[in-house]
Amino acid sequence: MTTLAVRDLHVAVHSDDEHKEILRGVNLTIRSGEVHAIMGPNGTGKSTLSETIMGNPNYEVRSGDITLDGTSILDWSVDQRARAGLFLAMQYPPAIAGITNAEFIRAAVNSRRGDDDQVPVVQFLQDLDANLAKLKMPEDMADRYLNAGFSGGEKKKNEILQLLMIKPALAILDEIDSGLDIDALRIVAAGVNSMRSANFASLIITHYQRLLNYIVPDVVHVMKDGRIIESGGPELAKSLEHTGYEQLSEADNG
Ligand code: ADP
Ligand code: MG
Ligand code: MG
Repeated sequence: MTTLAVRDLHVAVHSDDEHKEILRGVNLTIRSGEVHAIMGPNGTGKSTLSETIMGNPNYEVRSGDITLDGTSILDWSVDQRARAGLFLAMQYPPAIAGITNAEFIRAAVNSRRGDDDQVPVVQFLQDLDANLAKLKMPEDMADRYLNAGFSGGEKKKNEILQLLMIKPALAILDEIDSGLDIDALRIVAAGVNSMRSANFASLIITHYQRLLNYIVPDVVHVMKDGRIIESGGPELAKSLEHTGYEQLSEADNG
């Protein structure tokens, strides 16, 4: 059982002047078994929240806290957070030359499992093949350098391949649907849905309601100007499709 709690979180980007905060008091609690979605317009701080939870040092926590099962993780490295079961599918996954996809994933899987429980090579390769097939990814994707020359859609599928292999306790999926055609979207959603269990939580970030037809969230949050301004059930995503974010903010201010 894992509970991630974000408490009154204020975050600035490192290069910012003293007063410019991107996150301005975010509160969020996600428990094992739950799927949460965050929707919101561009530039509102969704990726900032994801990166901050994962421990990217470019994001400076000014105040507030992030806890895992009650323990603050603010001074934990990215590696420590990953070993504790956190996973981030980045909006813009970087390419890394010189490391193959399979090598990268195996290192991540072993890091998560710990020194006493390294995955046997044959089992790793079987698991990798099975998940490549599940995601309808060509087998040679495993032998290519990580994300090097991958198309937008291939990068997104590759993030889900990592998810299926690493089996985190809590996954943040940042715009995993951007640039996917409908077939790829279905495949990606099926991959995520196959992870759903009482021992798995996820936070799905998207602009569009469409993804949430395939991965039905338990809770939907709307983020605007660095805060969560509304939370509700899946129907909130559907109503946003009609009203849009602008109208919601007007209603909120009025
Ligand atoms: P979203 O994911 O909701 O589109 P972001 O978190 O990417 O929003 O960005 C929120 C704001 O923070 C934007 O104004 C963006 O320009 C700024 N920002 C985010 N990351 C950085 C960064 N590394 N350097 C400078 N500005 C950043
Ligand atoms: Mg964006
Ligand atoms: Mg973003």
